[in-house]
Amino acid sequence: MAKKTAILGGGESGTGAALLAKKKGFDVFLSDRGKINTKYKKVLLQSDITFEEGKHTEDLILDADFIIKSPGIPDSASLIQKAQDAGIPVISEIEFASRYTKSKKICITGSNGKTTTTLLTYHILKNAGLDVGLGGNVGKSMAWLLSERDYDFLVLEISSFQLDGMFDFKAEIAVLMNITPDHLDRYDNDFEKYADSKFRIIRNQTAQDAFIFCHDDAVILRKLKNLTVVSHKYPFSLENMDYKNGAFFKIDNSNYKQSKLIININNEKMVMTLQEMALNGRHNAYNSMAAAIASRLLDIRKENIKLSMSDFQGVEHRLEYVASVRGIDFINDSKATNINSTWYALENANHPIIWICGGQDKGNDYASLLQLVTEKVKAIVCLGIDNTKIIETFSPVCNSIFETQSMADAVKIAYKLGQKGDTTLLSPACASFDLFDNYEDRGNQFKKAVINL
Ligand code: ADP
Repeated sequence: MAKKTAILGGGESGTGAALLAKKKGFDVFLSDRGKINTKYKKVLLQSDITFEEGKHTEDLILDADFIIKSPGIPDSASLIQKAQDAGIPVISEIEFASRYTKSKKICITGSNGKTTTTLLTYHILKNAGLDVGLGGNVGKSMAWLLSERDYDFLVLEISSFQLDGMFDFKAEIAVLMNITPDHLDRYDNDFEKYADSKFRIIRNQTAQDAFIFCHDDAVILRKLKNLTVVSHKYPFSLENMDYKNGAFFKIDNSNYKQSKLIININNEKMVMTLQEMALNGRHNAYNSMAAAIASRLLDIRKENIKLSMSDFQGVEHRLEYVASVRGIDFINDSKATNINSTWYALENANHPIIWICGGQDKGNDYASLLQLVTEKVKAIVCLGIDNTKIIETFSPVCNSIFETQSMADAVKIAYKLGQKGDTTLLSPACASFDLFDNYEDRGNQFKKAVINL
């Protein structure tokens, strides 16, 4: 008799897991406590997969041989507790999917920069002619990809929630971009738990595998002191480090754009100037170094890597230039949903800045932005239901603060305040769910409002 699996959650991961499980001959039942998006419902129906929505029928779920849990469902959910008490294994979608691939997996995690680095790495590998799939937390889920076919290489964006439910999953090349506070609500407000979760990216690695990480990140360095890493380590840094294996920076003080990123693997150097790279800003220098190391480890020719890094198109809603209206630049950084990503946006933008920020607070501590706001921001336009914390923090250093509750108003006010040479930056440092469907909706509304000016 076929083994039974219950899949919890009917989104990208759950539906992907259901497709793969069905293909592999399991008896599949998918259950979502909320409503399942029509796009996914259609696929489930077409593929003849039994599912329910709006409830969890516990008897059916707890009758399974194992459960595949979508990353959105916390371990603390009562059904997960019951399954665990009953001795039913609960695994994540990536854990399940990894049982059905022979590919070499390049897995990218961190608090910020995952999507950009994942897409850039994929762009380089694809241009080099490798048989490569892209997915995980961006695009198709890993299980969905593998339900279609296997690849020689997979470039996967992995979130900490996905890492939590993995046990035997192994990243042949693991990339850890940074660890800064985010999603703490899911980790009992305990930053150490969140950081430990990110480090699961190197779980199961062997001496044949690679660990690429940011050497400028204090939390990563601190955690590494107490860990035995068996794989090869490839640090990257914006300091002048001279690594034999890793990436570092040689600043040119007379012409900053001529500063060099040096990617050195076994003492064989690849050099690129900032000028040659398509992506701008310090944060993107990190993302580029990580992607370049991963690509070099796969023996892609330096010339090919350079070409791909210079023609990469960037990613929507991440420091995306929208337009210049009356000499005011409008930048869409709607994906900045935490303090650290907004820090890089403020640091990168030309000032004076009119900063549109706010939304659903995830336990933000704004103190680290105070200096940049003092130096570069001429006005703040709050766009959220509750803006108290932002106003309290920044009113001592910015005397021009406005409150709005619609994107159209926020953009209009910013436009009125702006003068030639100013930058209006949407970089909210908060989630979007109080006023928008998601960060894409927020970014799209921003772009529309700018076009309508
Ligand atoms: P993620 O997938 O981890 O959320 P993204 O590439 O989507 O990362 O970028 C999210 C936000 O963080 C954007 O506002 C982007 O400009 C900013 N960002 C991108 N890379 C980095 C980085 N290495 N460090 C800090 N912020 C970054």
